[in-house]
Amino acid sequence: SASAPLLAVRDLEGWYGESHVLHGIEFDVAPGEVVTLLGRNGAGKTTTLKAIMGILAKRKGSVQFEGRELIGAPSRAIAKAGIALCPEERAIFSSLSVDENLMLPPVVKPGGMALDTIFEMFPNLKERLNSQGTKLSGGEQQMLAIARILRTGAKMLLLDEPTEGLAPVIVQQIGRTISRLKSEGYTIVLVEQNFHFAASVADRHYVVEQGRVIDMIPNAELGANTEKLHAYLGV
Ligand code: ATP
Repeated sequence: SASAPLLAVRDLEGWYGESHVLHGIEFDVAPGEVVTLLGRNGAGKTTTLKAIMGILAKRKGSVQFEGRELIGAPSRAIAKAGIALCPEERAIFSSLSVDENLMLPPVVKPGGMALDTIFEMFPNLKERLNSQGTKLSGGEQQMLAIARILRTGAKMLLLDEPTEGLAPVIVQQIGRTISRLKSEGYTIVLVEQNFHFAASVADRHYVVEQGRVIDMIPNAELGANTEKLHAYLGV
């Protein structure tokens, strides 16, 4: 049906070795939606993204994407299904140029964003095409990391703290990028510590605490829930 979620996470559990950190994460993302995972440090947000992407070795439960179960699938099959993760540490090849970084990720699925569109969306990257990754500013590195996952053809993007450590003007640029991606039909799960940024781009917010989703707040109802959120986030 039209309201079927694109991504449905149910009873998702995850471990690092013997350490049990996800205790039954549940949330849905509708096609074209931007949702955030909010919560304190160590709540399990990054681990949730890793479990969805299949790069957390020990996980169980259910992750359905377009109605297909992905929980047992290897990460390359998950990428091929159309999900991409942009990790917190901005996985770019720092010894390679912008150009080389954009050519290296395999287009794992037809429909990867064309380079022309990428350069239109990130004009800075075009100017710095021959610059080595290490010479880029933090903001440029983040743009490159996002550009690389757009090359893969994924339609669901998992973005882990894309604004971390960036100047306000760059944070605004990333906000505009996310809004544009949404308008083009991408679906986005965003882990954020910058609450104002989260409120400026997302449709709904899921609150993660100790490896569980304990609440969901529509963006339009944030104002009425400020106190509750402050208590959740400890701010
Ligand atoms: P943060 O903003 O600090 O990244 P988070 O909500 O993303 O917070 P996670 O990184 O998912 O939290 O961490 C969840 C729990 O798992 C924490 O207790 C953390 O210490 C632990 N953890 C994270 N990475 C590892 C790892 N590689 N090995 C063992 N434990 C880990």
